[in-house]
Amino acid sequence: MVIIKRKQLTWMEKAYLPEVIRGLRITLGKMFQKPSTRQYPEDPLITTEVTRGQPRLVVNEDSTIRCVSCGLCEIACPAYAITIDGQETDRMIEREPEKFEIDFLRCILCGFCEEACPKEAIMMSDELELADTSRQGLIYGLDKLKRPVSALKKRIAYINKINDRWRTSSST
Ligand code: SF4
Ligand code: SF4
Repeated sequence: MVIIKRKQLTWMEKAYLPEVIRGLRITLGKMFQKPSTRQYPEDPLITTEVTRGQPRLVVNEDSTIRCVSCGLCEIACPAYAITIDGQETDRMIEREPEKFEIDFLRCILCGFCEEACPKEAIMMSDELELADTSRQGLIYGLDKLKRPVSALKKRIAYINKINDRWRTSSST
């Protein structure tokens, strides 16, 4: 028969004092470190031109919409989130959207619509917040999607820079 002699615990070990002291040391150390959490929404998320928020439709300075209702973004969208109906217009471009809807319950913010668009008419904005009390409220129409070009100019410049790099490398 094997007799196992257990180690006798000291009174400190019985009172878990080493663990308590170690825990307090970690807590005190963390108290003086820069917090990695954010007090949202008072402290909003930082966004840059690289941020891929919800897609928005660009409105020119003369209040015309850039979209020519070609439907390329609708085809490119892997989530089938975009629905467009086009109509004729008196302007130089032949068409413009009569109806342009994005279902944000489907949208996965992939940016394929932005890449597919030949007119820089749909761009990923820095708008990340999305909330409503109904499913219908999250289907955005033209009125909710339009943004002035000034609000999207940083993103447009960023995408142009990316595309220029690609064009340069493919032409050499
Ligand atoms: S970001 Fe992606 S999922 Fe959302 S509308 Fe554009 S293509 Fe569709
Ligand atoms: S690809 Fe651009 S121009 Fe064509 S329908 Fe979409 S947003 Fe409009």
